[in-house]
Amino acid sequence: MDEARFVKYLKEKFPFSYGGGIGDDASAVKMGDDYQLITKDLLIENVHFSLDYYTLEEVALKSIAVNLSDIAAMGGEAQYFYLGLGFPKLLGEEANITFFNALDKGCRQWQVELAGGDFSSAALLFISITMIGRARNPIYRHNAQTGDLIGITGATGESAIGLMLLKKGIRSGPLVEKHKTVVPGIKKGPILANYVNAMIDVSDGLLIDLKRVLTASAKGATIFYENIPVTDEIRETCALHQLDEREPVLAGGEDYVLLFTITPGKEKELRKENIDYYIIGEITSQPEDLIIKDKGKVIQPKAIGYDHFQC
Ligand SMILES: [Mg+2]
Repeated sequence: MDEARFVKYLKEKFPFSYGGGIGDDASAVKMGDDYQLITKDLLIENVHFSLDYYTLEEVALKSIAVNLSDIAAMGGEAQYFYLGLGFPKLLGEEANITFFNALDKGCRQWQVELAGGDFSSAALLFISITMIGRARNPIYRHNAQTGDLIGITGATGESAIGLMLLKKGIRSGPLVEKHKTVVPGIKKGPILANYVNAMIDVSDGLLIDLKRVLTASAKGATIFYENIPVTDEIRETCALHQLDEREPVLAGGEDYVLLFTITPGKEKELRKENIDYYIIGEITSQPEDLIIKDKGKVIQPKAIGYDHFQC
């Protein structure tokens, strides 16, 4: 079973009567004038990171950042979180203090607070954060409209190439830093929420995350590859390692940029805001019909992204 089918199965098995539930970046439940957003992300040693090339501080910061990205993708602001922590005894008490100091640094950096949680010794480092936030108008995945423009707030592929370099034993450099240091779109998300129809954060790959929007909205899309921002670092590193840059750009995960759909009229208004974004395609009416063109020629990507359930 792939992840999309698994999510569909869960959505049907566990209908949610309080608001928007399974299948978005966060659940959204009406609370007074706002919606309360709740999201949860897991980081598991040797699945999501390796302590061979991550410091405990980097892991702690990333565990907060990936959750902040999901709240931003709903157009919301994060407030506080609960921590489930499995910590290997082997790492020792000092490592534990290092971890919590880093968590405190993240709280101050992003202005979120720790509200509670649970703690256990474990065979591997295991971090589960439940982040709470709020939004006046949450943005879901299911509202993309035919004729919407598709935008992204930054380059994709950098993190995936950074991970590839780490696996080759390269421990530093701008792309390695991109992989280890998540910069969540916490300012952009709430601004975009005033203009866009649908939004998601690119956690598993540009195409797979776009597909999630298309599936939820029962729409298709055409992507113009030449409009996607590709950094010099990606070009140079792919050339050096004889890789087709289109693979990490279209299918590499963990860039945590925001992907949105917006009417052409609203996009004109969005230009007045002081945020960087790139229009890379448009939404079409045929459900799940995803076409990628590179300078007018249709291309077939080898992969669309990381599927947590594909074996
Ligand atoms: Mg997400």
